Amino acid sequence: MKLEIERIPVLSDNYVWLAHEPASGLTAVVDPAVADAPLARARALGWTISQILNTHHHPDHVGGNLEIKAATGCTIVGPRADAGRIPGIDIELGDGDTYALGDAVARVIDVPGHTRGHIAYWFGDSDALFCGDTLFILGCGRLFEGTPGQMWHSLSKLLALPDSTKIYCAHEYTQSNARFAVTMEPHNDALLKRAATIDAMRARNEPTVPGTLGQERATNPFLRPDSADLQRTLGLVGADPVAVFAETRRRKDSFR
Ligand SMILES: [Zn+2]
Repeated sequence: MKLEIERIPVLSDNYVWLAHEPASGLTAVVDPAVADAPLARARALGWTISQILNTHHHPDHVGGNLEIKAATGCTIVGPRADAGRIPGIDIELGDGDTYALGDAVARVIDVPGHTRGHIAYWFGDSDALFCGDTLFILGCGRLFEGTPGQMWHSLSKLLALPDSTKIYCAHEYTQSNARFAVTMEPHNDALLKRAATIDAMRARNEPTVPGTLGQERATNPFLRPDSADLQRTLGLVGADPVAVFAETRRRKDSFR
């Protein structure tokens, strides 16, 4: 059964997602930074939040947990490896586990790097990946608690999913990511076109999330350590993927 998915912009650039499974009537909220906005949107749609799915412990992903649980009695689901930092957690999940939201079943993928206990939820039948702060449109999460090697391994697992997979990430960082990406791969035509499209969308104040994994594979420098263009920019022609990824991430950290 396919999920119905709603985007809720909150705080300065966060996206909270509602995922509704119509056969069972169950509704999950993914990474509720706050409580009020998702509760109000669910109410307006005639949905009742039955689950919270957390990807990682950061406050702008779990800030609404306890208030939503108090209001709805929902079940809180999150990473086993970081259970101690997920407020109100009821169900702990890790790599290879499945989690059923009614008839919609997610495979859980461990994706450490941004934090040590980050997970992603892949609902294959809905082509939906909730990946928190691991993969962004044209970017990836900062390495607060992990190494470049760990993050590259995590991103490699996501790269194994189908091109049609929609990336429901947790932030609208796309335009600044695009500005950086074109400096890394100045000869990538697909990227240059996409950056222009993104500028136009943002000028109209349109969201750029979700994008597809196929688009990311062709244009996101953090997924393209084999790109000759990128390797030339970094002075790392022929280097191994982890070294190229690490240098790309290091340059993004200081990019203005
Ligand atoms: Zn985070």
